[in-house]
Amino acid sequence: MFPTTFSFNEMVKIANNCDDAYDGLFFYAVKTTGIFCRPSCKSRSPKTENITFFQTVEEAKKAGFRPCKKCQPDKIHFNPMMDIVHDAERYILGHYTENLTWKQIAQNIGISPYHLGRIFKKQTARTLRVYLENIRVNKAVHLLRNTNLSLSDICYEVGFQSYSSFYHAFQKQTQYAPQQYRKQIDK
Ligand SMILES: [Zn+2]
Repeated sequence: MFPTTFSFNEMVKIANNCDDAYDGLFFYAVKTTGIFCRPSCKSRSPKTENITFFQTVEEAKKAGFRPCKKCQPDKIHFNPMMDIVHDAERYILGHYTENLTWKQIAQNIGISPYHLGRIFKKQTARTLRVYLENIRVNKAVHLLRNTNLSLSDICYEVGFQSYSSFYHAFQKQTQYAPQQYRKQIDK
């Protein structure tokens, strides 16, 4: 049902973190309340066993869930500019481990890199670069928590081209250096 980008556990974590980088890419529904939300919804985190995921609003509605009044997941697709944003996000999620260029992303969507950059920034209040870094750091955090891979393996595994860019992006987003973060988990 889903692009292989996310595992169930990753989606649970994204929903618990209320990360709006994933809005529009999937929706979570809570069986006990009958309501579905965007990943970024600030409502209380439901129990994992009560969560189910959908890729589209239509699928969630068809399964009998109602849109949350707070985060209004059904309003996400009303802006055509957001389709471009979601196309870019999907492409990045499928290719973030590669040495991505903006040109490559823009070409895949069928608009110019200049317009893509402007639209993305305007709609999401962050640049493509920041978005890409967020995705890579999120994945690095996932690998740090769930594998014994070395920090440099993780750095290249998630698509950073140098350890220093990994280090800076990681620290900016988590407030920890990667090695500090691993120590925190090991405690
Ligand atoms: Zn909600």
